[in-house]
Amino acid sequence: MATIQHWIGGEFTAGTSTRRGAVYNPATGEQQHEVVLGSTADVDAAVAAAKTAFASWSQASLSRRTKIMFNFRELVNANVKRIAEFISDEHGKVLSDAAGEVQRGLEVIEFACGIPQLLKGEYSDQASTGVDVFSFREPLGVCAGITPFNFPAMVPMWMYPVAIACGNTFVLKPSERDPSASNFIAELFKQAGLPDGVFNVVHGDKEAVDAVLRHPDVAAVSFVGSTPIARYIHQQASATGKRVQALGGAKNHAIVLPDADLDFAAGHLTAAAFGSAGERCMAISAAVAVGGAGDALMDLVSRMAGEVVVGPGRDPKSEMGPVVTAAAKQRIEGLIDSGEQQGAKLLVDGRGLRVPGHENGFFVGPTVIDQVQPTMDVYTEEIFGPVLSVVRADDVDAAIDLINSNPYGNGTAIFTSSGEAARRFQRGVRVGMIGINVPIPVPMAYYSFGGWKDSLFGDKHIHGPEGVSFYTRGKVVTSRWPHVEHAHDASLHFPTAS
Ligand code: NAD
Repeated sequence: MATIQHWIGGEFTAGTSTRRGAVYNPATGEQQHEVVLGSTADVDAAVAAAKTAFASWSQASLSRRTKIMFNFRELVNANVKRIAEFISDEHGKVLSDAAGEVQRGLEVIEFACGIPQLLKGEYSDQASTGVDVFSFREPLGVCAGITPFNFPAMVPMWMYPVAIACGNTFVLKPSERDPSASNFIAELFKQAGLPDGVFNVVHGDKEAVDAVLRHPDVAAVSFVGSTPIARYIHQQASATGKRVQALGGAKNHAIVLPDADLDFAAGHLTAAAFGSAGERCMAISAAVAVGGAGDALMDLVSRMAGEVVVGPGRDPKSEMGPVVTAAAKQRIEGLIDSGEQQGAKLLVDGRGLRVPGHENGFFVGPTVIDQVQPTMDVYTEEIFGPVLSVVRADDVDAAIDLINSNPYGNGTAIFTSSGEAARRFQRGVRVGMIGINVPIPVPMAYYSFGGWKDSLFGDKHIHGPEGVSFYTRGKVVTSRWPHVEHAHDASLHFPTAS
C-alpha cells in the first residue's frame, strides 16, 4: 500500500511523524493508500522551506512569475484527466465532475497569469507642488491554505496560484481524505519552473493545522471547510496576529415561484442537489416552493431524482458517485431517519442503496424530503449529502425571510420569469452569491467567491480581486525631489498640499 508523503522544499519526504491516516476508495469501500499525518516538526520544516524561498521569490520579476504561471497552466491543462482520476478515486465523484472541478481551478490559474495587470498601483502626479504620491502592493510572506475534502484540486487552486503570483510562498494542508491530487500538482508546479520551497504540501489533521496556526512565520491563513472549524481557525489565527479568511459551511436555498418554467427549475434543482452526491458547498440542499408551485414541482423532481444513475465515479455511465466515507454515509442516513421521525414526507428514499458489484461502497441514493419544517434536523443541519429538503412558503417575501433567518449565507437561487421578483430577491437576501435561474452561482475566477454570516469568517472573499488584496499589503509613497531653491521650505506645521 502506497504511503502518501509531504512535499517540502521541492521533494517528497515522509517527515518525522509516525501517525498515518487511511485513504479509501469510496466506490469500493476499501482502503487504497495511507497518508502521513504531519507533526509540528513537519510543519516547521515546510514553513522554514517557504520562508527561505520567500527571500528570492518575493524579488522575482513579474515577468518571471507570469512565465512560470503560464507554464503551470499548460501542464495542468494537459493533465486534467490524470488529476480528475486522482480526485474520483479518493473523493468518489464521477470523472466528468472531477474534470469540471479542475477546469474551474484552471480558471483561477489563468486569472493569476494576469498578475502584472492586477498588481498595478496608482500614481498621482503633482499631488502637492513638486510632490508625487504613488502606491504599490507587496507580498505578505509565507501563506498557508487548509482545505476540505470536497474539492481536492479546485479549492486549493482558489488560494495558491493567486498567493504565489503575488510573490508569496505557500504551505498547503489538504484534506487527509483525498490527498493525492495535491502531490501530483506540486510536481507539475516544479516542472513549470517554480523554485523549490515556493509551494509545499504538508499532509495531516488537527495537529498539523494547529502547528500552522501557532507558527510565527506564517503571515496569512486561508481556510475552507465546515463552519465550526472555520470559526476556530479564524479565532486562533487572529489571536496570533495572522491575516485570515475562513470559509465555512452552507445551507443553500433555491426558491421556485409559480411563474417559473417548472421543467427547467426541476431539472436544475435535481442537478444542483445531487451532483457530486450533494457534497458541494454550493449544492442546493433546501428548495422553497412558493405558492402553487409545490405539488407539480415535487412530481417532477421526484421523477428526475429517481432517474439519476448512481455508480462508481470511474464508470462513464454514472451521474452520481458515492459519498466520501462510511461515517458520512451513516451520518446522512441518520439525518434522513430523523426527517421521517420528525414528520416530514419522504418522497424519494436513498437509504440502503446497493450498487451491484460495489456492495461495500459508500453509496446513498438521491433523497427528496417534502413538507420540511424549519425546526427539523434535516433543515437545521448541513447534511452534505444527496438530500433535498423541501419547504413550502406562501410568497416570495416569506421565502426571503426564511433564507435570511438561516445562519448560513453562502449561495442561493431563484427560479422565476419575473424580473421584479428576481430583483427583490437579489436585493433582499443576506447571502454572498446569488443565482437567477442559475442554481449553482459560483462566480467566475475574475470575481471573488464567498458567503456571508456563518459561511465566512474574515472580511475578504477568496480569489479574484479580493484574493489579490488578501495576499498583498499596500504601500503609499509620498515623494519629492527638491530643487535647491526649495531646500529650506520645511515647516513644523502638519503637512498640507500647496
Ligand atoms: P472539515 O472542516 O472537516 O475539514 C476541513 C479542513 O480542516 C481539513 O483540512 C481538515 O483536516 C481540517 N480539520 C478538520 N477538523 C479539524 C480540527 N478539529 N482542527 C483543525 N483542523 C481540522 O471539512 P470537510 O468535511 O473536509 O469539508 C466539508 C465542509 O466544507 C462542508 O461544511 C462544506 O460546506 C465546506 N465547504 C465550504 C466551502 C465554501 O466555499 N464555503 C467550499 C467547500 C467546502
